[in-house]
Amino acid sequence: MSSVTSALRECHRLRVHLRNLQAEIDRGPRVLQDHTDELETARQAHKDHYDTITKLKLKQREDEGTLKQTEVRLAKLEEQLTSISVQKEYVAKQHEIEMARTKKGETEDVILATIMELEEKTGAIPTVEETWKQAQADFKQFQVEAAERLEGMKADQEERGVDLARHETTLPPDVKSTHDNIVKAKGPDSFAASKARVCQACRTSMTEAQFIALRNGTFRTCATCGRMQYPVE
Ligand SMILES: [Zn+2]
Repeated sequence: MSSVTSALRECHRLRVHLRNLQAEIDRGPRVLQDHTDELETARQAHKDHYDTITKLKLKQREDEGTLKQTEVRLAKLEEQLTSISVQKEYVAKQHEIEMARTKKGETEDVILATIMELEEKTGAIPTVEETWKQAQADFKQFQVEAAERLEGMKADQEERGVDLARHETTLPPDVKSTHDNIVKAKGPDSFAASKARVCQACRTSMTEAQFIALRNGTFRTCATCGRMQYPVE
């Protein structure tokens, strides 16, 4: 390949590479946001776990208070029962006692369920802590890797930029001015490989004579898409 067409091929490769690099650099803040959101979700789950335990403990205390009141009331009702001689009043009191006993039983069941849930939540604390620790470690690792990656991409960007400029300076002045105008408009899409006479960007064919000329290093642009062409096998 002549120096002009090989320079164009390199310019194409480098400009596409630089565009991809820039796109990845530009995606950085969004990727960081995704990881920050993940960390925030983990932080919330960790906090929710302890909040649930606090609420369950409070509920247990409240229900135990209710139970105590019910027991006091029940004892009072049972005592009252002994001093009743009227049958109708006796039946009514017995009914009240029955109601209080039912409430006592229900409250005891609720307290037991709360205690079991508390035990389960308390037992899960080591796992919850481990998950939260892991989430923080993952985020930290992401930050370190992202910083390294960004540094690498910026260095690559700089080196490839120098390479690109070096290849561009090898273009003859007339080619260079056409090149500059096309690049201004199309950027990395200013170039197209031509394989077996076919433009790889727009699929238009050129004549055999044109392809031979291209392979011999004649500068040309695609008649259809206007890209600067270079031959590939
Ligand atoms: Zn084309």
